[in-house]
Amino acid sequence: MERTRLLFADQLGPHFDDGGPILIVEADSVLARRPYHRQKAHLIRSAMRHRARELGDRVEVVRAERYRDVLEGRDDLQVIAPTSYGLRHLVAEFDLDVLPSRGFVTSEADFAEWAERHDPDRARMEDFYRAVRDRTGILMKSGKPVGGRYNFDHDNRDTPPKGKRTLELPEPWWPEEDDIDDEVRADLDRMEADGRAHFVGSDGPRRFAATHDEAHEMLDDFAVNRLPLFGQYEDAMLEDDWSMAHSLLSPAMNLGVLDPLEVVERVSEEYRAGRAPLRSVEGITRQIIGWRDWVWHLYWHFGEDYTRQSNALNATRKLPKAWRELDPDSVKENCLSHVLRGVHDRGWTHHIPRLMVLGNWALQRGYDPRETTEWFIDSFVDGTPWVMPANVAGMALHGDGGRMATKPYAAGGAYINRMSDYCGGCRFDPKVRLGENACPYTAGYWAFLDRNEERLRGNPRLNQPFAGLSRLSDREAVVEQESHRRGI
Ligand code: SF4
Repeated sequence: MERTRLLFADQLGPHFDDGGPILIVEADSVLARRPYHRQKAHLIRSAMRHRARELGDRVEVVRAERYRDVLEGRDDLQVIAPTSYGLRHLVAEFDLDVLPSRGFVTSEADFAEWAERHDPDRARMEDFYRAVRDRTGILMKSGKPVGGRYNFDHDNRDTPPKGKRTLELPEPWWPEEDDIDDEVRADLDRMEADGRAHFVGSDGPRRFAATHDEAHEMLDDFAVNRLPLFGQYEDAMLEDDWSMAHSLLSPAMNLGVLDPLEVVERVSEEYRAGRAPLRSVEGITRQIIGWRDWVWHLYWHFGEDYTRQSNALNATRKLPKAWRELDPDSVKENCLSHVLRGVHDRGWTHHIPRLMVLGNWALQRGYDPRETTEWFIDSFVDGTPWVMPANVAGMALHGDGGRMATKPYAAGGAYINRMSDYCGGCRFDPKVRLGENACPYTAGYWAFLDRNEERLRGNPRLNQPFAGLSRLSDREAVVEQESHRRGI
């Protein structure tokens, strides 16, 4: 019997299709369960319906309340292994025929084989990344990394260009909305009006690719217009330039409409043709075949309870309303307000605002890692259950006590001031830690170290910060001041 392939909402590109009959289920309970960003809900539904139209009479589309309503009584289905514990439990319950997962450069079997030789709890992403480069030959020549090094990270930390408000690059390519988007918008309006869903953030326009063709337009645009500057300004932030030189392709890869290998191959081609510098090409390659694959494998390696059990710093503060409701106007810190506005307006910011503005704030203020991780999953158009736990609970919040990152990513206002132009327009001063102008990031950094001194003292990477803390003449006053500061 030819099996019908049930495609999940992140398996929507050609690399998930082997030519047989397809089933797509639009399950409303998925959107009703969580306070998703409106644009995330739109993007997912739009991608599913565009895929259904592309597949024509090979696809059966079923609208239902829950997946299980459709699965009950069907014994003709197969799936490609889904990307969350929840869905893997579901397919196991219905005894579906399960094929190995796709959508990553390395398979789960590749990782298992690598993990036999390396302890993933001691090894770092860099070890894994180098092994993937060696094995795939990506950016390799005669068995050696091109340019003589695997990693050009140190060349990818330039501060933003002086005196510029933007990188002066052309606007990124946007998809043009169509009748499917109109229909999705009307459906989501109806769900919200009926009280069947609660979305956060602003509605469209849809800025991210929902189809393979759109993803290719975005990839071309990135390769030609932004890749050359990507590496240099990978970590920089400018208030008037939300995309900087970033690819904007993570939503497409995480929806499965774009194969990550296509991105890696395309940027390598730009390097070989002399159109993009190695620091850019290696930087994006590391993001994809290094970081993205690494956190995917760690999701399974760390286990289902990882986020729930990740609270090594005993952080219990509830997420404030300004975060839950994405309300940047109630936030006084210019950097944080600006980044929250970006999340509100687009459901996307690049990795440094995520880690060093949002994550750093949540770390300093002691936000609950589990709630914060869920917030990132729901609020970002590329947020998935597999990508956020290691990135948020592990890396940003140090909740796993160092399995993911060897030290907490806490930083004062000096870092944000160096890497952005936010501080110029802020009522606080990044150099001041005490008094009315005290920057909450600068003061919060010292208060964070003070609060966690006992827990983190033994970490050799924090010797210098703790030496600084012990020399702080106004330590008590700073800690006292921060104890009264609101969580937002
Ligand atoms: Fe952010 Fe502090 Fe700079 Fe204000 S002064 S923008 S709060 S880092």
